[in-house]
Amino acid sequence: MTIMKGKKETEKFEICFGSMAQGVHHWQIKIDNTFFENNVNEDITGADIDVQVSITKEETMIVLVFDFEGELFCDCDRCLEKMSLKVSKSEKLILKLVAIPENSVLDSDDDDIIFLSDKVTSYNVEQVIFEYLCLDIPMRKVHEDETLCNAQTLEILKKYSSQQPHTEVVDERWEGLKNIKLNN
Ligand SMILES: [Zn+2]
Repeated sequence: MTIMKGKKETEKFEICFGSMAQGVHHWQIKIDNTFFENNVNEDITGADIDVQVSITKEETMIVLVFDFEGELFCDCDRCLEKMSLKVSKSEKLILKLVAIPENSVLDSDDDDIIFLSDKVTSYNVEQVIFEYLCLDIPMRKVHEDETLCNAQTLEILKKYSSQQPHTEVVDERWEGLKNIKLNN
């Protein structure tokens, strides 16, 4: 077994626009658990997402619109059971082809625009797809309703937390302010 990212797995994300005719093209990619084995996000355990990509090729730019539909898998922060996060959104990326050397990168102020050399004929979207998916992961991931949580685990957690002595973290700077008497 190899833990290296399979070449085939990465090729799946290569948009070879060089050979495309100008106009609109449609393309689709399936994001499954393997994707998150290759691209690690500590919160996400897997995924089942369809990505429809519309590729509009123009003379000096390629407009990519990604439509995501599906779910990401993670663990519930409340009951620790598996849960899913619905993903349904659209993202747009513009590849601008400019007269720069093939291996150079031109910085862009806009996250939605990437400048590529006009000698380049393909672009791998694996990393951008990963970033789009990570953008919407909430800080706190819990089942929508507490009744969907694992009741047994909740019971144990409740018991455990009620046994813990209640300690308050006090910020000394604020404590000091309490002693200041206001004279006006
Ligand atoms: Zn839960």
